[in-house]
Amino acid sequence: MYLYETHLHTAEVSRCASGSASGQAAYYKRMGFTGIVVTDHFLGGNTIVPDGLTWEQKVNMFCKGYELAAEEGEKLGLDVFFAWEYTYMGIDFLTYGLNKAWLLDHPDIDKLFINDYLDLVRNEGAFVVHAHPFREEAYIPVIQLMPRRVDAVETINAERKDFENRLAAKYAEAYGLKISAGSDNHHGVQESLCAIGTDKKLETIADFISVMRSSAFEIVRMPG
Ligand SMILES: [Zn+2]
Ligand SMILES: [Zn+2]
Repeated sequence: MYLYETHLHTAEVSRCASGSASGQAAYYKRMGFTGIVVTDHFLGGNTIVPDGLTWEQKVNMFCKGYELAAEEGEKLGLDVFFAWEYTYMGIDFLTYGLNKAWLLDHPDIDKLFINDYLDLVRNEGAFVVHAHPFREEAYIPVIQLMPRRVDAVETINAERKDFENRLAAKYAEAYGLKISAGSDNHHGVQESLCAIGTDKKLETIADFISVMRSSAFEIVRMPG
């Protein structure tokens, strides 16, 4: 089985992360993964990228975590894919399938109303996962769900409580949404990891999306 991490941050881009891009790649290689998707917090979220730059400068800075992880992955034999985690008032949307060129062509998408953002990226072919929908934190005002505007729900997040994951699974089931699972890794070595396992190797992010859309994977939990 091929193991993939769907939800991971780098210290170069995500303000809340301490795991460097190269360190994250090395850790997952050591843990026997075939690939990782780098999902740093997007512009307007918990990112180190400041606001007072041009769009191009911001996108270049934002993509750094992925690019450094990909460089290290190339050396180590770990496949590294690009995505991001878009935040709107405490709701987090993992957005897969669009690349840096697409971002450069779509300035200021960090400033969109959330409905418009989700409609835009999904029309452009993105696969959107609502990450940890039942997470409670001091800075999250209310639990909010947007079942008509996402493709899938992260029903197992290795960093969330079991009951939050159970509610997420009920939510996905009730609305007929696809499921996803990930570690939300911010710091490298973490107590428990959650991978998706596939029986064929994923060559591109499009392969990843087709596996997610067809639920052709197993959820694999393991100690980190
Ligand atoms: Zn974070
Ligand atoms: Zn995250």
